Amino acid sequence: MLDCSNLERVEERITKACERSGRKREDVILLGATKTVKPEVIRHFYGCGLKVFGENRVQEFLKKYEELKDLNIEWHFIGRLQSNKVKYIIDKVELIHSLDRESLLDEIEKRAGKINKIQRVLLEVNVGAEETKGGVLPEEVFSFTEKVLSRKNISLEGLMTIPPYEEDPEKSRKYFVLLRELKEKLEEEFSLKLTHLSMGMSNDFEIAIEEGATIVRIGTLLFGERG
Ligand SMILES: *Cc1c(COP(=O)(O)O)cnc(C)c1O
Repeated sequence: MLDCSNLERVEERITKACERSGRKREDVILLGATKTVKPEVIRHFYGCGLKVFGENRVQEFLKKYEELKDLNIEWHFIGRLQSNKVKYIIDKVELIHSLDRESLLDEIEKRAGKINKIQRVLLEVNVGAEETKGGVLPEEVFSFTEKVLSRKNISLEGLMTIPPYEEDPEKSRKYFVLLRELKEKLEEEFSLKLTHLSMGMSNDFEIAIEEGATIVRIGTLLFGERG
């Protein structure tokens, strides 16, 4: 018997948050954030019905990708990405959440072009302007977006953020609002539609959903504390 209770509990909380905010459940994607999680655990959750997983480290991702090749997993890349590693993942990931600088943009464009792929990406925004975190600063988002939009083999699908850690998730709301407003301003300025807001983790995903998240990235609540 598969024990799918962690997933069921998270699903229920997502459904409730959607109801509270007048949104449809199918408009929010649950992504399992699986850094340090073993392949057999991922396989277990796949059996429970979770189909989208996100990895942070290229080496770790490649190992799991090989081991789980028989499953129809939709893999996303959500961690800091070194330009020289793009070539290893470009044919394996549906969505890169962490585009945050021009050198990486150039490399994705080049590698996607080589395999005739349009790589879907999100632009990561450093909403708290934290020095230790990746992401484009809010005031740089417009000029960077212009560059992203000029590339042929890249499709910009939205924004992602990891806000400063707050014990009280209510305090993260202002960062989620900021990301949503940035997205709306970009849509207006560039006359385009951005599908995704990737925001919300174990501690604050309900607030993120209330503020418009379309992808929530959850690790601890599904897979337990990381060792
Ligand atoms: C680890 C991680 C998550 C999940 O964090 P939890 O607090 O364990 O849910 C989400 N997004 C990114 C980018 C991560 O690295």
